[in-house]
Amino acid sequence: MTYRDELLTCATCGKTFIYRVEEQRQQAALGFEPETPQQCADCRAQEALGPGLRAGVVKWFREDKHFGFITQRDGSDIFFHNSGIEGDVDQVMKENAPVWYEVTTTERGPQAINVHLRE
Ligand SMILES: [Zn+2]
Repeated sequence: MTYRDELLTCATCGKTFIYRVEEQRQQAALGFEPETPQQCADCRAQEALGPGLRAGVVKWFREDKHFGFITQRDGSDIFFHNSGIEGDVDQVMKENAPVWYEVTTTERGPQAINVHLRE
């Protein structure tokens, strides 16, 4: 697949932004479908704090520690605890497992909950 910079308009704030080749490659490397963003990075970051399911990939999970990290769509990591896993726990604990999750804020910072396998 050939990537190129795309000039887009944010659906939320109306600002023009560039969806860069590097971002497109990063998405593909994380196993995400190439999907043109509807919003600029600022609005996406804002929305990342709101409700709703997001797509991520399990970075690692330590069974002995009962927690792990999910790589988010923007490339940053988010903490999750095994109490936040729904459904097939063994599948979700695997490195590189594609998952859906929701974000909640705890006193320790953001945490992924309702973590379940993305088919
Ligand atoms: Zn925007």
